[in-house]
Amino acid sequence: MTDKPPFRFATVILDVDSTLCGIEGIDWLAARRGEEMEKRVSELTERAMRGELPLEDVYGARLAMVRPRREDIDALGREYIATIAPGALEAVEKWRLKGVNVILLSSAIRHAILRVAQYIGLGPDEVFAVDVKFDAIGALTEFDRASPLTTTTGKRDIVSRLDLPRPMIAVGDGSTDRAVRGTADAFAAFTGFVSRPAVAEGADFVVKSFDELSAIVLGD
Ligand SMILES: [Mg+2]
Repeated sequence: MTDKPPFRFATVILDVDSTLCGIEGIDWLAARRGEEMEKRVSELTERAMRGELPLEDVYGARLAMVRPRREDIDALGREYIATIAPGALEAVEKWRLKGVNVILLSSAIRHAILRVAQYIGLGPDEVFAVDVKFDAIGALTEFDRASPLTTTTGKRDIVSRLDLPRPMIAVGDGSTDRAVRGTADAFAAFTGFVSRPAVAEGADFVVKSFDELSAIVLGD
């Protein structure tokens, strides 16, 4: 006879933008370039997150429009921390104490994601995001075009290769998160910041807070 593990899911895969944190990073960066830019970029983001446009069609275009600088990305990292979902820090801490693995899986810029990862106690090995390069004076010159995370199905590709204990639950608000259904053992649509019917449809769980999510992860 074996003891029941202190969790129902052994690994939690968290999206960051509009899930762990209350902003869309690229839209927030665009807003620093003015209202018009924010409108143009956020429209593309929303259409990609609803699944109306492939992410690969908007990924490079949005960055080319916004042209973020190193200082913008640093500020974005701080904004991620400032907008972290209520209860998320406590939930992640509790899960990890019980032996649940937590990873961040994001199509956003790795530099900024690492900051919020560190804030919730995760290291670089627990972060999957997109690398970028800056020139000597801080202009973003390139992003990792080979990263699967710049495509609609990239999160699924990464989850399928993850060597972490199962069962795994993936959590997110967008179509790229929903694409992991069938690869992760469960998908939870997170509606705490944005609610998209096309993403919630067919999700194993729909949660609007980290408290609700925590109850599912731990099987309370
Ligand atoms: Mg998201």
